[in-house]
Amino acid sequence: MRILVVEDEVELATQIAKALEQAGYTVDTAHDGEQGGFLGDTEPYDAVILDLGLPKIDGLTVLDRWRQAGHTMPVLILTARETWSEKVSGFDKGADDYVTKPFNMEELLARLRALIRRSAGHAKSQLESGPVTLDTRSGKVTVNGVMVILTANELKVLSYLMHHPEKVVSRTELTEHIYDQNFDRDSNTIEVFIGRLRKKLGPDAIYTHRGRGYSLAQSAEDS
Ligand code: CA
Repeated sequence: MRILVVEDEVELATQIAKALEQAGYTVDTAHDGEQGGFLGDTEPYDAVILDLGLPKIDGLTVLDRWRQAGHTMPVLILTARETWSEKVSGFDKGADDYVTKPFNMEELLARLRALIRRSAGHAKSQLESGPVTLDTRSGKVTVNGVMVILTANELKVLSYLMHHPEKVVSRTELTEHIYDQNFDRDSNTIEVFIGRLRKKLGPDAIYTHRGRGYSLAQSAEDS
């Protein structure tokens, strides 16, 4: 899962990015509305954390432009103070949730997890696919109730597939959602991660759809 953080307080942006990375997300950071808006327009994020008070272009305008352009990724807004007018106009412009500064990092992470799950159509924090379970809170994976240790990248690949079990996910899409913008991307490494996941989770845990990609459910379809 790849997250965009748009926050002009550099220290806070760094803190958020660190916490997200520790929680297993891939993170891109922008420090003004122009750069953040551009990244949200051009990169496929699973969620965005957006500050409202930003240099160059304010957060509400950035959000409004994304929604006008048809970008539907969930957006969690950070606001300096809880004012009704900001909240209402934020929701009107397509925000999915709010956190008021100063906030507790655990709360931000919990709200983000819930947003990502809901936008992928999951109500529960534990995702299941056949014998495989993923606890989105702890990142713990089990097969038939037995815990399996995954590397950070293996977990990122599995987590993306488990959030979209009915979809055939191409190697390019997986690459875009597990690496940040500065990473030298090589979609061949995805094949390596899939091979390792099959070794750890069982040979039938992930299906290959020839020339199209991978899925957890055999019946998955392109979208
Ligand atoms: Ca700000």
